[in-house]
Amino acid sequence: MPSSHGYAAHDAHSALIPHQFSRREPGRTEITLEVLFCGVCHSDLHMARNEWGNALYPMVPGHEIVGRVIAAGSGVSKFKTGDIAAVGVIIDSCRHCAPCNRGEEHFCVEGATLTYAMPDRVDGSITMGGYANNYVVDERYAHTVPTHLDLAAVAPLLCAGITTWSPLRHWGAGPGKKVGIVGLGGLGHMGLKFSHSLGAHTVQFTTSERKREDALRLGADDVVLSSDDAQMKAQTSSFDFILDCVSAPHQLDDYLPLLKQDGTLCLVGLPPEPPSFAPFNLIGGRKSVSGSMIGGMPETQEMLDYCGEHNIVADVEVIPIQKINEAFERLLKQDVKYRFTIDMSSLK
Ligand code: NAP
Ligand code: ZN
Ligand code: ZN
Repeated sequence: MPSSHGYAAHDAHSALIPHQFSRREPGRTEITLEVLFCGVCHSDLHMARNEWGNALYPMVPGHEIVGRVIAAGSGVSKFKTGDIAAVGVIIDSCRHCAPCNRGEEHFCVEGATLTYAMPDRVDGSITMGGYANNYVVDERYAHTVPTHLDLAAVAPLLCAGITTWSPLRHWGAGPGKKVGIVGLGGLGHMGLKFSHSLGAHTVQFTTSERKREDALRLGADDVVLSSDDAQMKAQTSSFDFILDCVSAPHQLDDYLPLLKQDGTLCLVGLPPEPPSFAPFNLIGGRKSVSGSMIGGMPETQEMLDYCGEHNIVADVEVIPIQKINEAFERLLKQDVKYRFTIDMSSLK
């Protein structure tokens, strides 16, 4: 068994600390990765602190993984030893339901296996994530990486990237469309880059006036301070699509009047408390509130390939694993530009 070590949460209130565990040898269609970089998603914080009520401890978080293949089973065809590979939020699914057969493994009717804190379908252990030295995964759930990109900045594409790419594509962000992105954090800044790159007129909403210049640099056509009533009113009935990437409770009723007739507000942010909104803000204009979760394996590869062609990566602050607890605190203060990525060589 490959010996593994990383950083784990042991309960909802304590800091993450070094943790030893083991993973299986790779099976016939599996690879073992040496983890090079792992992004720090706000979901890692929600999960480690049991804010969604589904934590399993000890928990090694991390689902934005870029690594080097150090072992491969005899049936692996997509990778060879030495290749760079990436793993996102899901690492298995039933592989036979209709969504799995369509390549929408994230909507598996039997439930996809998450990268950490879930029973593993193969060996029954609890999955341990990418804040660790290695990872074992079936090649179906691993992706090839455009290696000319900065790998530290590629890691966040595996969650923040696909989670914003998928709804922007589904709802047709592109020329002639006006798209709003709410919250300039890890997800939000990727949503902004993608929406701009796809050709939509893109407006960034933020609670942080200090992020205005960055939002413009990242591709925003306009930036709106959401606490400023006049700036918000000026956007009334103008959006085809608004992507809400906020991690904390906030007022959806502030955004619904900004949609055009038949417009959609899509939630990807997952504050622990359920949102509420006035039905009157939906009925006049037949508006929709919807949600979206990461993306399937083919769509994730499509997004990575697009990033390779268009030189799109996350804006990252690279940290050693020893700073992970500080990084969590800074996430809560909206103090990250715009994703932390752990350099896993710091584990040694
Ligand atoms: P993040 O980097 O911490 O960014 C969240 C942003 O939300 C902040 O930068 C801030 O933007 C805004 N915000 C924070 N607190 C706020 C408040 N009290 N009121 C209004 N705005 C506030 O987090 P992330 O990693 O992007 O994740 C965002 C959310 O998406 C999390 O809840 C995460 O769990 C969820 N998520 C969902 C999926 C999915 O598949 N649906 C996948 C990954 C993550 P401004 O400073 O610009 O206001
Ligand atoms: Zn995530
Ligand atoms: Zn399935």
